[in-house]
Amino acid sequence: MTADARIGDHAVIGGGPAGAMLAAGLARAGRSVTLLERSDGPVHKICGEFLSWEACALLRREGVDLDALGGAAIDRLRIVAGNRSAGTPLPGTALGISRYRLDEALLTHAGRCGATIWRGTHVRALEGDMIRLADGTRLRPNRLWLATGKADVRGAARDPAGQKVTRDLVGFKLHLDLAAADRRDLARSIELHRLPDGYAGLQPIEEGRANLCLLVRDEVAVDGWEGVRAYLSRVAPALDGRLRRGRALYDQPLAISRVPYGYVDRGAAGPVRVGDQLAVIHSFTGDGMAIAIASGIAAAAIAANPEPAARKQLHNMVRKPVGRAAFLYAVLANGGMAFNAVMTVPALARMAAHLTRIA
Ligand SMILES: Cc1cc2nc3c(=O)[nH]c(=O)nc-3n(C[C@H](O)[C@H](O)[C@H](O)COP(=O)(O)OP(=O)(O)OC[C@H]3O[C@@H](n4cnc5c(N)ncnc54)[C@H](O)[C@@H]3O)c2cc1C
Repeated sequence: MTADARIGDHAVIGGGPAGAMLAAGLARAGRSVTLLERSDGPVHKICGEFLSWEACALLRREGVDLDALGGAAIDRLRIVAGNRSAGTPLPGTALGISRYRLDEALLTHAGRCGATIWRGTHVRALEGDMIRLADGTRLRPNRLWLATGKADVRGAARDPAGQKVTRDLVGFKLHLDLAAADRRDLARSIELHRLPDGYAGLQPIEEGRANLCLLVRDEVAVDGWEGVRAYLSRVAPALDGRLRRGRALYDQPLAISRVPYGYVDRGAAGPVRVGDQLAVIHSFTGDGMAIAIASGIAAAAIAANPEPAARKQLHNMVRKPVGRAAFLYAVLANGGMAFNAVMTVPALARMAAHLTRIA
């Protein structure tokens, strides 16, 4: 079959970190590739603003100039439960950087590598090996890759049936200007606040701002953000104090629900998937971005392999860390004792972090 001249040989659907790094790798290998991204400019996304040391190393190795992005270095973890807190160094230096800034930089990188980037291009459905855009245009590349993150495309939806996934969590994300003393206190740290029904992460990002990302069970979120704020004031006094003293930078936080944590693609047919389309690791590990980036790079490297073989290789890459993260989440969420052990010996958190890494 010959590729549609408008789209070239390879089409990557979705321009998050997985799609951008896949398109960059394909283009660098001399393949003609078009990336289709529905947003027509930078947007705020949930969440991925803790860019782990592995993710940073992968991007630097691929030639992305992370230092030019002005993110905040993070090399300490502080765990907070009620009025208690414990700190430990992280195994490496992570970067606090907004998706608003990072995703644009990665798309620019893919473009510089030779990929054609189509912005404002919403893929409505896949019909076999044909792409149908929202405006009705139909396109047929030789090879199709799916990198649409948590959003499924009609005709190629993921199937978590038969898998042990957690879907009853709702995520919120908000950028903040913290009070000066809180900003100093948080410098170089990510703070994880244990909540009875989830957790919250607070970290610095670029330009002195902070990112709050939290996950709670859906019953806590039924009354929206107001209800969540009331809940935080009851169960997380330290975090509540930081929020009260600071200033929210959006009127309403971004929210996401029904994330299939623990999902790993086992599809035998259809397009090869990367990033969250391939696997969804629990976000408390701070490893989703590394998986997205690594799977995009790996997929480009094995693009010459037949699709079933490529699918299997990618599946094997992510299966173990995602499974271990699901196990750790269950232990930490349900076992007060396990959490107390981490508070008493914070180095356990570092050991746990090693278990969920892809490499
Ligand atoms: C609450 C929460 C907190 C998290 N925190 C962290 C963290 O701190 N650190 C970390 O490493 N990971 C974190 N993660 C995970 C991380 O955000 C994801 O693993 C990562 O974003 C996956 O990247 P991706 O490229 O696969 O998908 P995405 O980043 O979701 O990108 C998908 C892209 O596809 C585009 N798209 C979607 N549908 C279409 C369509 N039909 N047509 C065209 N384009 C389309 C979207 O616009 C988007 O640009 C978190 C996840 C959650 C839910």
